[in-house]
Amino acid sequence: MSVQNVKSWKNRLQEYCQKNELPMPNYQVIQAPSGICFQADVEINGHWYRGDNDFTSKKMAEQSAAEKAYNSLSNDHMELQSGNTDFSQHMPENYAHIEQFINNMVMPDGGRIRKIHSPKSDGTYKIEITGKYRYCENVRRHHKNNRVYSLVDTVNNVYYQKCYDPDCHNFRSAAHRLPIR
Ligand SMILES: [Zn+2]
Repeated sequence: MSVQNVKSWKNRLQEYCQKNELPMPNYQVIQAPSGICFQADVEINGHWYRGDNDFTSKKMAEQSAAEKAYNSLSNDHMELQSGNTDFSQHMPENYAHIEQFINNMVMPDGGRIRKIHSPKSDGTYKIEITGKYRYCENVRRHHKNNRVYSLVDTVNNVYYQKCYDPDCHNFRSAAHRLPIR
């Protein structure tokens, strides 16, 4: 039996998932058409994380995806632990009608707001959706696993839809009008 001194990212990620009662990571390796390079995605609880590309082995590609996922998840975790400075459950009172609007949009399809990130300096809020609502305008249907989110631009009073599917990585919907209070 070989002894491994350095814990692999895959092991760390698995332990993290167990500790936080998350489903086990689900890896997907992509092979470049040339057949020499590999890149991996890993899905945890409906979120996809993509590793770096150009690995010569599938194992290395998976380790890279695991590292990205682990770092991203533990950052989110710290954000939650640090209190309300970086995280708000609701939008401020003057935007309550916007939060209500997003909620009303996703609720009939079994969706709900999972998390509202604190606003960026340009006044955009990222609103993450969970539950059965995964409607993506890029594929014009609900995704099977990947969650969607809204980017709310409070300055121009519009929102955009984006999602966590790797294939939609660069997709952002057209701007949609938000109601006026
Ligand atoms: Zn999508």
